[in-house]
Amino acid sequence: MSFPTHRPRRLRRTEALRGLVRETRLTTAGLIYPLFVCPGEKIRQEVSSMPGVFQQSVDAIVEECREVADVGIPGVILFGLPETKDATGSSSLLAQGIVQKAVAAIRKANLPLLVITDVCLCEYTDHGHCGVIENGEVRNDATVAILAEQALSHARAGADIVAPSDMMDGRVAAIRAKLDENKLEDVAILSYAAKYCSGFYGPFREAAQSSPQFGDRRSYQMDPANVREALKEVALDIAEGADMVMVKPALPYLDVIRQVRDSCNVPVGAYNVSGEYAMVKAAARNGWLDEERVVLEILTGMQRAGADIILTYHAKDVARWLAS
Ligand SMILES: [Zn+2]
Repeated sequence: MSFPTHRPRRLRRTEALRGLVRETRLTTAGLIYPLFVCPGEKIRQEVSSMPGVFQQSVDAIVEECREVADVGIPGVILFGLPETKDATGSSSLLAQGIVQKAVAAIRKANLPLLVITDVCLCEYTDHGHCGVIENGEVRNDATVAILAEQALSHARAGADIVAPSDMMDGRVAAIRAKLDENKLEDVAILSYAAKYCSGFYGPFREAAQSSPQFGDRRSYQMDPANVREALKEVALDIAEGADMVMVKPALPYLDVIRQVRDSCNVPVGAYNVSGEYAMVKAAARNGWLDEERVVLEILTGMQRAGADIILTYHAKDVARWLAS
């Protein structure tokens, strides 16, 4: 059974044939669009290292969401830039906090969109770490208690899905318990189960104003060299009640996505992060890469690796390209 009987090129001869036998079909239905919400009105400030991505006030976010829904993207994930920051990120818990206001406004606009909220402290703490600090260290259990309150507050505002990104141990169980105690048992948890300590978050920190003011995040985010540990994190989060799990970043961790996909039976997300987006944008702006072609290739690669859901800043462009 070999050449010349078998000629794989036979099935590549025309677009109809290639389409017929295509193994991975990228669709808009699996995309989530990240948004950054800031205080004020009529604000739409472009993030310099992420062309096409904006910090936006609540009114502008609602308009953007209308556009997102119009192109068929099923959901958005919100990150907040609060008015004030302190040591414990207390502005993240306010019923009238920035994310809570945005969630409520999107709900009020009655758009066919899933609203996901990022649950973490780094955007709200004056030191920029994802948890509360004691003696120069991020304290796990004290942080988890605050994260559960934050998730509850987002759910009360109308979030469909809460997405803890802090990498504290035990937070999924604490959030599930808190939501259930408050009769919010239908709110789902998408856990950033395997979030790596990555250099690819650089542009995001400009967008979310969340750079740590001292030290780094190596004591809670994962070591980029590890994959068995990712499977352990995923198993723990599912046992604690995560409805979906995520790998972040995506492009340098396709093997992790594949192994996570093979190791569990919940939907797997991949976060195509800011640095991955910025690289493509920079190269495309220089005329060094064909943006549409490489973005579709990158996202197809993530899906082929096993991602059911892709969070990406390219989502609106992809939706338009796939529709044309
Ligand atoms: Zn964080």
